[in-house]
Amino acid sequence: MKTKNPLGQLKLAVPCQEKPVTDFLTASGTFQDGDLLLNKQGLRLISEDSSSQPPDVKDVDAQFTMEDFETVKIIGKGSGGVVQLVRHKFTGALFALKGIQMNIQETVRKQIVQEIKINQASQCPHVVVCRHSFYHNGIISLVLEYMDRGSLADIIRQVNTILEPYLAVLCKHVLKGLVYLHHERRVIHRDIKPSNLLVNHKGEVKITDFGVSAVLGSSMGQRDTFVGTYNYMAPERISGGSYDFKSDIWSLGLVILECAIGCFPYRQIGNDEGPLSFYELLESIVEEPPPSAPSDQFSPEFCSFISSCIQKDPHHRMSSLELLSHPFIKKFEDKDIDLGILVNSLDPPVNFLD
Ligand code: ATP
Ligand code: MG
Repeated sequence: MKTKNPLGQLKLAVPCQEKPVTDFLTASGTFQDGDLLLNKQGLRLISEDSSSQPPDVKDVDAQFTMEDFETVKIIGKGSGGVVQLVRHKFTGALFALKGIQMNIQETVRKQIVQEIKINQASQCPHVVVCRHSFYHNGIISLVLEYMDRGSLADIIRQVNTILEPYLAVLCKHVLKGLVYLHHERRVIHRDIKPSNLLVNHKGEVKITDFGVSAVLGSSMGQRDTFVGTYNYMAPERISGGSYDFKSDIWSLGLVILECAIGCFPYRQIGNDEGPLSFYELLESIVEEPPPSAPSDQFSPEFCSFISSCIQKDPHHRMSSLELLSHPFIKKFEDKDIDLGILVNSLDPPVNFLD
């Protein structure tokens, strides 16, 4: 089944077996899935052997409850639910609160649990941290680090194109996040796209949304129940083949090329340069030669960086670690480029209730 999200990106709804929410609830109103326990008081992970006797979550993280946060405004809306800016009443600290309704498909619930687990353990300055999480009245709420300049999608809507020196800094931040996910956590993000790369006033770029990521087992097998846009999806995933960390590199390459040329790289050729239909897009990604940066408009280093990412054969793509030392990234390292100057010169992200 095909659906369209508010950004006009096509998505495929993945059919799956529905399981009642109550199957995951304990008598005390605690949401439980495997080793994760979540209720109004907060979250805790329990070890395998203690999971038969769910401990009371009350004493864990007891210094925070949902009542401690007040809503400032709604800052975003995705397919999973609304994102609000909230203030911690006692400290005044701001957070982004992402609410996810739980009367949803089991696959989506599992993705959320995955997101919480990865986020909770995150120790990388280029990955958005989940500070707390709650389950109350059928909604899982994630209290996320607030990224006050919105997403890369917000930025490219305003500036249309981003110059190479800023792109090099942006890439470096995203690559550091990917090196952490790929090499330290053994996680494929699987949904790298402009709205999942968030920016703050310090000019820091961080990766968010691990809802569809998968922790790779030693077998390197994958579980594909993708719910998301196909625009940035690597050809090997579209054609149903096996894939690994390199699929995130393809997505990164497309995002960066889009930022440089000012439009999504797969478009109609000729007089009618509009967007491709859903099936034309998938066909182009799988069948056509990959897009590249025009060499008459961009530096050789940039063109080489893009072609190191957007290779149809994943074996020909560089890894996140290799790309960190690519000449395009190195070129601007001693130039003291401040991404904060770019993002702070723009209007703040459009908010839903402004
Ligand atoms: P989709 O659900 O289709 O993947 P999405 O990524 O835009 O789309 P969400 O992840 O729910 O959906 O996020 C919605 C918007 O909320 C984002 O585009 C971003 O602008 C904003 N947002 C999300 N998390 C944060 C955060 N931690 N700080 C600031 N803004 C955020
Ligand atoms: Mg998102």
